[in-house]
Amino acid sequence: MELFVLGEQNSIANHFLTGLRDKTLQQDRMRFRKNLERLGEIMAFEISKKLHYVMKEIETPLGKSVLNVLERDPILITILRAGLPYFSGFQNFFDSSDCGFIGAYRQEGAQGFKIKLDYLTSPSLENEDVILIDPMLATGRSVVDAVKELFKRANPRHLHVAALVASPEGIRNLRDSLKEPFTIWTFAVDEKLNQQFYIVPGLGDAGDLSYGEKT
Ligand code: URA
Repeated sequence: MELFVLGEQNSIANHFLTGLRDKTLQQDRMRFRKNLERLGEIMAFEISKKLHYVMKEIETPLGKSVLNVLERDPILITILRAGLPYFSGFQNFFDSSDCGFIGAYRQEGAQGFKIKLDYLTSPSLENEDVILIDPMLATGRSVVDAVKELFKRANPRHLHVAALVASPEGIRNLRDSLKEPFTIWTFAVDEKLNQQFYIVPGLGDAGDLSYGEKT
């Protein structure tokens, strides 16, 4: 497992992340979603540096130019619903990607909660670079369950887990539970999870802040 924490370097990304975390600024729902999208674009750019390229000769109006271009766009898979605005940022850059969607939610029980996967649609992942887009890597259970389900059907070339904010517990869970080679990308690793398994300090509920509270 490799881990990249992009917020460790100074960049405009931390400005957008601050906007997401600030409880006053996050009342502006449109701005909240826009910041998620902008960070999705930045993350897509960073991940693109690790993908596969081929040389391509093209003709400009004045001559020939040889460039390294993406061999093919990665497959993008997101977890509904919080992943959607962040996913749009990836789609802006990987604009020809085939995409998959997973419905996952927490089902509360006596022993905490279980993850229920209730919808999954995915293109073929065989030998593909796959980016699994889930902004809040809290316990990591939805990512682990989603990967197990997805990988029953295929062997991807590489898995990139694209979080926005991660917890140490979530990173440990992925490291211990996933056997396939994978990379975790995040802008920040926060302190811990609280008793409701939310990331602290985190930013709150990314789905509710994007789309409104659930009943
Ligand atoms: N999902 C969220 O939206 N926030 C968290 O802190 C954890 C899971």
